[in-house]
Amino acid sequence: MKNTIVKTATSFKSLPDQAGYFGQYGGQIIPPELKPIFDEIAEEYRRAQADPAFRAEYEKLLKDYVGRPSPLYYARNLSEKLGGAKIYLKREDLNHTGAHKINHTLGEALLAKRMGKKKLLAETGAGQHGVALATAAALVGIDCEIHMGEIDIAKQHPNVIRMQLLGAKVVAVKTGGRCLKDAVDSAFMAFIQDPKNIFFGIGSVVGPHPFPMMVRDFQSVVGREARGQILEDAGRLPDYLIACVGGGSNAIGLFHEFLDDKEVKMVGVEPSGRSFKPGENAATLTLGQPGNIHGMFTYLLQDEKGEPLPVHSIASGLDYPGVGPAHSDLKDKGRVSYEVASDEEALQAFQDLSRIEGIIPALESSHALAYASKLAPALSPDKIMIVNLSGRGDKDIDYVAERLGM
Ligand SMILES: *Cc1c(COP(=O)(O)O)cnc(C)c1O
Repeated sequence: MKNTIVKTATSFKSLPDQAGYFGQYGGQIIPPELKPIFDEIAEEYRRAQADPAFRAEYEKLLKDYVGRPSPLYYARNLSEKLGGAKIYLKREDLNHTGAHKINHTLGEALLAKRMGKKKLLAETGAGQHGVALATAAALVGIDCEIHMGEIDIAKQHPNVIRMQLLGAKVVAVKTGGRCLKDAVDSAFMAFIQDPKNIFFGIGSVVGPHPFPMMVRDFQSVVGREARGQILEDAGRLPDYLIACVGGGSNAIGLFHEFLDDKEVKMVGVEPSGRSFKPGENAATLTLGQPGNIHGMFTYLLQDEKGEPLPVHSIASGLDYPGVGPAHSDLKDKGRVSYEVASDEEALQAFQDLSRIEGIIPALESSHALAYASKLAPALSPDKIMIVNLSGRGDKDIDYVAERLGM
């Protein structure tokens, strides 16, 4: 028998392992014939990361095209009104296309081009990921195909037009409930017809290895900048980092650089939607159990048969029944705590930030703001928190106006 050496990671930052595991979560839960495809992406990504020319091109685009670094803004009005901790906002809403997603779609598009892929393909629900991917595809000069449920197409018409203007082909999915879940299946079917020539542009830190790692790496610019900015402005590290969690990309993007700083507490905020009843929320880490979804082992909102439950959130970017595997590991090991905010609380935070700071936040980001607004008054004014303002709320105004009877 071989000697068993138990290897414990010295740092969360060194994860995942070679096989794509964050502790027991992640991996490549895919048909064997697809394994070489994802392994090749992992290998080429490793080479690209070690290639100064690739990194320089990506970083130059982050600066000149996305508009980075995004500011770290001390929200004085909000902090004083709440009467507790100092709240800083990491302004991802000011990026080109209005959210953090462009940070990783740009990386994916550059990698796809480097690999000689002919097409970027993805599904989209509300259209935010589709627009971010179509934008990167237009810039890099590669074809783009976005699958979207027929019902979502009717609901999110402006994003459909945006994608088409950006040169993407939008495929209307007419099967099943004609929403996100059916779009995922349809996009996956299209991908496996020609996996050599198609790059599946995954929209968060989810899916089979290497995507949870790669998307995290592209998003980690958020925390790297925030760390430097808070050291410069406050002269020390923050006490809290707070971010909303759908798949978990903006949250891990902010957290990653701070994971080894034990004094920095971190909170991921999930949507508790209308209630804790199945189908009325998307609070995966709070209410779910480990299982398999979309090529990974992770926490999952599931029924007795292991099938994903229907999900709901006022913020369409948060209604996903799974979560990135890194978050599952960070939860189990107690490094990050995961809390919830409801539809109503998010809607209130959306209005509050608009009125108090003159910033209309995305409904997704409003979940992080809602939790921060509860926590801040309980802390003394010498405490510092950074809230990730993952996107702007322009996309949400029609829906909010209807909800508020405006
Ligand atoms: C898509 C989206 C999210 C949720 O995705 P994560 O992968 O959890 O970050 C959050 N905020 C905004 C503005 C989004 O568009």
